Amino acid sequence: MYNFEHLRYIILNTMDEPILQCELHCNDPILHYELHCKGCGSPMLLPAGKIVWLFADPDVQPNRSHAIAAVCRLCKSVDTYFFERNYPGHNPRDLVIFADPIRDTMDGPMLGCGAEGCNALVPLFAQWSPGATTEERKADVETWRWGRLQCPAGHSIAKPDWGLS
Ligand SMILES: [Zn+2]
Ligand SMILES: [Zn+2]
Repeated sequence: MYNFEHLRYIILNTMDEPILQCELHCNDPILHYELHCKGCGSPMLLPAGKIVWLFADPDVQPNRSHAIAAVCRLCKSVDTYFFERNYPGHNPRDLVIFADPIRDTMDGPMLGCGAEGCNALVPLFAQWSPGATTEERKADVETWRWGRLQCPAGHSIAKPDWGLS
């Protein structure tokens, strides 16, 4: 079911000189994507393992490019981030690093591109503190700023009809 060759391809093509930031005493550092918010520039740390598995099926994203949507916890902007270094939308500041596992939970729907003939899926990632209640999360979702989401083929993706359960 999982295509390991493809996962390997993703890791190799999205890593931009990985930096080993761990000291000897830190707890099992794992790979993270460090993305920089397109709204306010603040860094966002997302565990890579949770992300690459979503792309195990090569049909999920066209052009062999890989994009996710992420919500900035500071400015609440929802934006698209492209992992491939040679993709025009890729931010050269974004990279893959080893870091201690974050304790926040990650959650979100797979967003489908609505353009005709395009089957791209873009996973949305939001992060919450482990103790956040469903009510707190729902209130947070209300503050998100939508509008610039794109699929890897460049079509815009509308705000989904998505509710937290
Ligand atoms: Zn931001
Ligand atoms: Zn599309």
